[in-house]
Amino acid sequence: MSVRVVARIRPLLKNEIDKDVIVTAASNNESTKGSQIVRIPNPKNDAELYSFQFNSVYEQETTQQELFDNEVSPTVKHLFNGLDVTLFAYGVTGTGKTHTMRGGKTLADRGVIPRLLSAIYRRCRKVEKDSQGDSKVEVAMSYYEIYNDRVYDLFEAPEKRTAAGLPIRDNGGKTVVVGLTERPCMTLKEFEQLYDQANVNRSTSATKLNAHSSRSHAILCVKITQISEEHTLVSTASAIDLAGSEDNRRTDNNKERLVESSSINKSLFVLAQCVEAISKKQARIPYRESKMTRILSLGQNDGITVMILNLAPVKSYHLDTLSSLNFANRTK
Ligand code: ADP
Ligand code: MG
Repeated sequence: MSVRVVARIRPLLKNEIDKDVIVTAASNNESTKGSQIVRIPNPKNDAELYSFQFNSVYEQETTQQELFDNEVSPTVKHLFNGLDVTLFAYGVTGTGKTHTMRGGKTLADRGVIPRLLSAIYRRCRKVEKDSQGDSKVEVAMSYYEIYNDRVYDLFEAPEKRTAAGLPIRDNGGKTVVVGLTERPCMTLKEFEQLYDQANVNRSTSATKLNAHSSRSHAILCVKITQISEEHTLVSTASAIDLAGSEDNRRTDNNKERLVESSSINKSLFVLAQCVEAISKKQARIPYRESKMTRILSLGQNDGITVMILNLAPVKSYHLDTLSSLNFANRTK
């Protein structure tokens, strides 16, 4: 099991200005390539700078392609060797989690998810070709969100949802979501159609629940099954656009928001503990303590986890950025 924790600082948005930039990247050593350190001032004393170290730090001008090439592309070969790959985008609302995962409409703006799928399909064709028709690869996806600790299928039309969500059950050592839709998707085009449709469900259901979609975790699972005469090899790539990590208890006294915040805080807290346990190679990983980590069986299979910590560079996020950095620091 291996974990990488990397930070990505998003560029300034139209209404943000240079002089408000407080988050910067630095290299920890003249001889190493790229940056590994994030610097941010103490909110009570601008002259004091805090430093946080990561496996890598991606600066404002990093393209989607660069991030994918460095952090996600190398995992594809492991996926086809039967290892699971889990990608998380963690951060405050507005810091670029959805941009990183899903991205924009143009080719250059595509996020890590469509790029990963594109790489997966390319590899499928290669496996099939190299085996001269002896092997076949099947790809299927499920996509759900966890909101207030309840699981909702994103392939289910929002009006057909029950408020209680889908039950989860232990099944031969694995935790499964009962009734979750799994759709075969054999080409990138098929995947994109299903993914787009489910994302529409995500925003409509959020409106219906009078919640913002930033308050739920969106979990995409892509199951790859390689079938040959000798054996069947199954692996899963999971990509999670986490709920915004901001603590609404500070700013919002609405009762609904308080319930949301405490369930988000708890699941992110357990996630941090699991990632920490994995990276320190501890025997006990507390994955059963939250619904998300339990369904993902986080750390239970040999595999690779990449946590991308999304950061906004400006002062208006100061306290939340600091708590994000503290969160990520605990995972190492
Ligand atoms: P989140 O999902 O964390 O709430 P978003 O992904 O919606 O954040 O990003 C907030 C805004 O910042 C969006 O307008 C998005 O297009 C923009 N943005 C985020 N990251 C980048 C980036 N790396 N390059 C360009 N724009 C970005
Ligand atoms: Mg988002």
